[in-house]
Amino acid sequence: MSVNLQTPIDYLKGVGPNRADLLRSELGIHTYQDLINLFPNRYIDRTKYYKINELQHNSAEVQIVGTIIGFREVAQKRGKRLVADFKDDTGTMELVWFRGQKWIRESLKTGKPYVAFGRVNWYNGKFSMPHPELELQSEHEKNLRSAMQAIYPSTEKLTNKGITNRVITKIMQQLFLETNGKFSETLSSSILGELKLVSKSDALFNIHFPKSQTHLTRAQFRLKFEELFYIQLQLILKNLIHKSKIKGFKFEKVGHYFNTFYTDHLPFELTNAQKRVLKEIRADFGSNAQMNRLLQGDVGSGKTIVAFMSMLIGLDNGFQCCLMAPTEILSVQHYSGLSELCNKLNISISLLTGSSKTSDRKLIHENLENGSLQILVGTHALLEEKVKFKNLGLAIIDEQHRFGVAQRSKLWKKNDSPPHIMVMTATPIPRTLAMSVYGDLDISVIDELPAGRKPIKTVHRYDKNRLNVFKFMKDEIAKGRQVYVVYPLIQESEKMDYKDLMDGYESISREFPLPQYQISIVHGKMKASDKDYEMQRFAKGETNIMVATTVIEVGVNVPNASVMVIESAERFGLSQLHQLRGRVGRGGEQSYCILMTSHKLSNDSKTRLETMVRSNDGFEIAEVDLKLRGPGDIMGTQQSGILNLRIADLVKDKAILDQARFMAKNTLKIDLSLALPENRAILNTYRQMAKYRNIWNYIS
Ligand code: ADP
Ligand code: MG
Repeated sequence: MSVNLQTPIDYLKGVGPNRADLLRSELGIHTYQDLINLFPNRYIDRTKYYKINELQHNSAEVQIVGTIIGFREVAQKRGKRLVADFKDDTGTMELVWFRGQKWIRESLKTGKPYVAFGRVNWYNGKFSMPHPELELQSEHEKNLRSAMQAIYPSTEKLTNKGITNRVITKIMQQLFLETNGKFSETLSSSILGELKLVSKSDALFNIHFPKSQTHLTRAQFRLKFEELFYIQLQLILKNLIHKSKIKGFKFEKVGHYFNTFYTDHLPFELTNAQKRVLKEIRADFGSNAQMNRLLQGDVGSGKTIVAFMSMLIGLDNGFQCCLMAPTEILSVQHYSGLSELCNKLNISISLLTGSSKTSDRKLIHENLENGSLQILVGTHALLEEKVKFKNLGLAIIDEQHRFGVAQRSKLWKKNDSPPHIMVMTATPIPRTLAMSVYGDLDISVIDELPAGRKPIKTVHRYDKNRLNVFKFMKDEIAKGRQVYVVYPLIQESEKMDYKDLMDGYESISREFPLPQYQISIVHGKMKASDKDYEMQRFAKGETNIMVATTVIEVGVNVPNASVMVIESAERFGLSQLHQLRGRVGRGGEQSYCILMTSHKLSNDSKTRLETMVRSNDGFEIAEVDLKLRGPGDIMGTQQSGILNLRIADLVKDKAILDQARFMAKNTLKIDLSLALPENRAILNTYRQMAKYRNIWNYIS
């Protein structure tokens, strides 16, 4: 009989309605297929027997051969526990039971060799094993099970309801019985051959019941590859279909605006990376497809100028362009920076944010629709329905991680045909993550800083050294520099953060008194206009110190500021620290970042601080961040569908990911519609996955 893997799990012998409900609610297992894809978290190697004097204080699960010398009952706070002294030729330990003591006592024999299996604890100066699995050695030998035992993900509820690892193993065995362990192949024979992968059936058997370490390794490799392969296939396919189906505006020429700017007004030589990226963007504009490009570049790598020059090409072809930023401050800054450049070229540009006046809005709406306004800069106010363009050709989004995918698609609908879209992020994303989350976008990377930048010197100081830090700030201010002092702002404890900020402000005001020193303060509770006023004062050099919460994290550009002091630095994430540090080092002077912390630091905090002190490279920092936090936390829940990997790991399996992406690309290059008989298995699997995803969307 051939078993359909979409069969509900209730039908598997040994499962039944109660267990089926639990499997569904606790592990999301609805079908045979889901069960077979429940991959173990880890394995216990039951080929090895430990001696009691080899045991370590690591709470490992081990098996030991020994004999029970005798039983004792030990009174404890509530009830009593049953203890058996268990001995081998190297020492003794305790086996312990808190429940079922009568039955244990009657069924276990003293003086006979047993194999005890379980987790070993170190308790009261002795090793002990609570509620061990015990088997007479003679039985154990008859029962040779698979050499290694899989340990499955579980929940407290499952364990409490008696669905132990043993039960899961049993029903897994049952599934293999009912299916004869035969599963359809899901990869093409050329891929299997080229990468020397084991078959699907072989891999599934050995992932659940590994015959040996080597078998397990090969099974894992095959399944990780497969998982990553289908994600890549899906993303690349989406990209290719998009390109072939969605027609974009063709920007045929590079004209007056671009050329005049390039020859007469470009304030510096572009870096090679900037030139390369501009070329990539021009190639997109020149093709018939709509551009969907992610522009990655570390803080200060010069993304803005690339964005501006891309817009000039849009204008040269008679289109309007917009630039959207996540905060008011940032969009104001973009606006004032770009206005200067636009003035030189006679380009009309406006700013639209939540605090734009109604009369201004009206004018903007009008000029957008009649086409006299060429560039619009703003916050997500741009997304409002009233904002209509005459012919939006290019939409640029700065700092992607603050906007969602949904917002990207709103921009699409601003025209009959979608504009070209470029998303810029200043938080470098590790390559593996970018490939998995943005694999459907084309990616450009500015991986080079403008020449002549001095690397920022970063140090870690404890709070008790504050006086030295103040002294250092005074020295820098005496040289004409400006200083940022940043406090954390975390939603849950907003009140306390606010108090910290105000206390800090007071103590700085005392230390840096008027009229010698001028201090600005900016925080989230201020009105936008007040914030703006203070920012401007600092930007113009009228104040020496800017005390702020993380509102200044993104984009703020004051080249004369050379010192960034981050208070309670242990409370910031790595990418945030790196972003904040990026606010200095923008001028010609040597810049400094001082990370202030208390003495109590967690291991993760220590790693973060050490990484910041060691490295200025955003991509390297992002890799460490990925290791510390995992992909889901970094990208937020939005993309968790893609990141919810069953078996592969974006930190450890980089090489496999590269192979998978390469193979997926290759497969589609030869056979875009997966129509070749050779790719039948891939097509079927892909279709089924798509169908399954839809069902899931429907259910949830
Ligand atoms: P980010 O990539 O963080 O948005 P910006 O675009 O704000 O960086 O650029 C940071 C600073 O570097 C700006 O003052 C900008 O004028 C300057 N800059 C950009 N490109 C170059 C270059 N090729 N040479 C010198 N300075 C540059
Ligand atoms: Mg920027």
